[in-house]
Amino acid sequence: MSGDGALHQGRPGGAWLRPTAKAHPGHSRTHNRALVLSSLFHAGPLSRAELARSTGLTRVTISDLVAELHLEGLIAELGARAEARVGKPANLIDINSDGHVIAVLDLSDISQARGALMTLRGDIRARAARPTGGATGEAVLDHAAAVLASLMDQVGEARLLGVGVAAPGVVRPDGLVIYAKDYEWHQVALPSLLRDRLRRSLLGGLPGGALAGSRGVSRQRPDQAEAAAEAPTAAAAETPIFVGNDANLRALAEFTFAGAGAQGLMEVSLTDGLGAGILLDGVLLLGPSYAAGEIGHIPAMAGGEPCTCGRRGCLETVLNRRVLGGGEPAQTQARQETGVDAQAADDHKLVAGDWGEVARHHQSADAGLAAGGGEPTRPERPSADAALAVSGQPIPPETPAATLVAAAPPAATLEAATLARIGESTAAVLGPIVSAFNLSDLVFADPRGLVTPEVLAAIRSGLEARLLPQIMADLDVRLSKLGADAALLGAGSLVLAERLGLS
Ligand SMILES: [Zn+2]
Repeated sequence: MSGDGALHQGRPGGAWLRPTAKAHPGHSRTHNRALVLSSLFHAGPLSRAELARSTGLTRVTISDLVAELHLEGLIAELGARAEARVGKPANLIDINSDGHVIAVLDLSDISQARGALMTLRGDIRARAARPTGGATGEAVLDHAAAVLASLMDQVGEARLLGVGVAAPGVVRPDGLVIYAKDYEWHQVALPSLLRDRLRRSLLGGLPGGALAGSRGVSRQRPDQAEAAAEAPTAAAAETPIFVGNDANLRALAEFTFAGAGAQGLMEVSLTDGLGAGILLDGVLLLGPSYAAGEIGHIPAMAGGEPCTCGRRGCLETVLNRRVLGGGEPAQTQARQETGVDAQAADDHKLVAGDWGEVARHHQSADAGLAAGGGEPTRPERPSADAALAVSGQPIPPETPAATLVAAAPPAATLEAATLARIGESTAAVLGPIVSAFNLSDLVFADPRGLVTPEVLAAIRSGLEARLLPQIMADLDVRLSKLGADAALLGAGSLVLAERLGLS
C-alpha cells in the first residue's frame, strides 16, 4: 500500500506499526530513530532522560539521535521545563511539527480530488480541491496532479516530507493500483504517473493547476531545465510519492491520529463504495492479493437489492446513501453553496425526493419478496454528473475544499423495521469477521454523515444477536471522529510511516 518506501519490507502484505522496544544489536539505526520519534509524537515533549527511559536506549544513543534529528529539522528544543524542583531543570524536546509538511491527496470521492498540506501532527495548513466531473482514466490523474501542484506552490519555507495518496481500489505496496472500478483503472502505476505530471507542471514553470495547458510545453531547452532544477519546486517534483487504499489509510489514521489501538481494529468506510481497513496485532493487513478489507461485496441479505457487481444483497447495497438517506453528493451541494446554479438546486430537491421514494420502495419491495412477490425494482439514483449536465456550468477550478466538503445534511429518519434489517444484515457480514479476528474496535468512517446513532445502535444490536457475549463485551462499536479528513490524515500517516517509521 505504499510507494517506494520500506513500510512493507520484510513482511510482504503487511506492515509492523509503531516500534515499542529498542532495536536488537544488528538492527538498524532507522528503528531507533523511529522509536525516538514515536515516543515524542505520542508522549512528548520529553527530556533526554525521559526519552532514554521510555525507549530503553542509552543516554549516549539518545543524545546522538536527538542531535541528528534536530539537524534534520524533525525535532525541536523547547528549552527548560517550568518546574519547581531543586536542581537544574531538564531541557525538553518535541517533534518539530511545523518544520516539515506532507502533501496529501484523497481520491476516494469520485466527484472531486481533494488535497491538503499537513504538519507532522496532522494539522492542516492549506487545502486545494478540484471537481472531477465523473472523470475516468488519465483525466483523473490530471486533476490529481493539478491539486498536488497547487499545494506544492504553497509549501513555503517548510520542508516537504513526501506525498501521500488515498486511492480507491486494490493497491499494491509499490503504489500500483491494480484495479479501481469507478475510475476504470487497471494496473495504474500511480506514483510514476503522478510524478511525470508533477514534473511537467512544476518544472515547466506553469502555475499549479494549469496542468492541462502544460502538456504542450513539457519540452524545455537544457538551460531552462537547469534553471528550473535549482528552484525549490524541483525538489518538490521529486518528493517520494506513497499510495494506499483509502479504507486502509483511514484505519491507519485512526491509529496514528485518533488514539485507537492496532491490536484488533476494523474501520469500515462508507464512501462511494464500501471497504474496510484492518489492523491486527500491530500489522495493517493487506493480504496476498492486497485486497484485504474488500468487504463491500460480501452478501449481506439473501435476495436483496441489485448491486453494481451484478449480484444481489451485497453489504454495499445495505450501507449506502440510498438506503440510509441524507448525505447528498458533495458536488451538488457545493453548487448550491457557491450559488453556481440555482436550477441544479431545484433539480437536487427532486433528487432528494426520489431517494425518499427509493427508501420506501425498498421496504415494500422486500415485503413483496418475503411474500413470494416478484423482483424489486427501483429507479436509478440520478448522479451528480447528471445534475451538472443540466446546468452546463462546471464548478470553477480550484474551488476551496471547504466549500466542496461541507457537512452532510442529517440522514433520514428510518423506521424501526428498516433499522433492524440494516443492523441484522450488516452484522451478518461484520460479525464473522469480528469473531474470526477477535476484534476490539469496530469503527465506521462516515464522511457523508449517513450513520446516525440509531443506525449504529441497530448494528450493535445485530452484532449482539450473533456474537458470543465475551466477544461482544470486548468490542467497541463507534463512529470515527476524524470526519471528512480521515483519508487525508491516513495519507499523511502513510508518509509518516514510510519516511520516519512513525505511526
Ligand atoms: Zn456487489
